[in-house]
Amino acid sequence: MERTGIIQGLWNELTPYKARLIAVSKTQPSDRILAAYEAGQRDFGENYVQELTEKQPTLPSDIRWHFIGHLQTNKVKYIAGFVHCIHTVDSLKLLKEIDKQAARFGRDIPCLLQLHIAREETKYGLSKEEAQVLLDSFESEGLRHARIIGLMGMASNTDDTEKIRQEFNGLHDFFLRMRAAHPGLTELSMGMSSDYRLALESGSTMVRIGSAVFGARTYPTSA
Ligand SMILES: *Cc1c(COP(=O)(O)O)cnc(C)c1O
Repeated sequence: MERTGIIQGLWNELTPYKARLIAVSKTQPSDRILAAYEAGQRDFGENYVQELTEKQPTLPSDIRWHFIGHLQTNKVKYIAGFVHCIHTVDSLKLLKEIDKQAARFGRDIPCLLQLHIAREETKYGLSKEEAQVLLDSFESEGLRHARIIGLMGMASNTDDTEKIRQEFNGLHDFFLRMRAAHPGLTELSMGMSSDYRLALESGSTMVRIGSAVFGARTYPTSA
């Protein structure tokens, strides 16, 4: 199957960087996700709580679901029982709710702090200063079930390769600085279909790739 070749090609590209492929399956029907699963892919990314909670029960239970969309506090409870990793934590309030819901389900939920690295106003995420405050306060909050294991960021949507590279390098530098103080930080989630090669060169450990795996999305989404 053609999809198998695409996925294996991506794995081969990621191997020298020891990075993981998150196949972003938002808007993709379950049969396409299953085809990727059958090719061996296990990590999938979804952006919308409702879409994820509808798909998850219909698909194999050993899929590792990564939540990569903006997450509202009142929706954490719907995914806390099964989500593998939440990439988009942008407040202490959200982190506390993830901790509470994870405890209810008797599990831990690895989380990434989403940083705002692009110039665009529309992107969610923390500034570096805010992320640093959150990382420092996190340890004194005594949260036991929400674990911060890394950082996530999205570069500007531009053809300007140098600009993208600067944004990724800036996040990687910040990641290294934070990791020196917080050794639990091991993951850096950056890179999408259009810029994952640049992200890998800048030290990404997880690339979130949608259209390059599944083809163009079948219906438009609102951000
Ligand atoms: C949709 C999405 C992706 C994947 O985008 P592609 O351009 O299809 O690879 C990656 N990360 C986030 C946060 C997304 O919303």
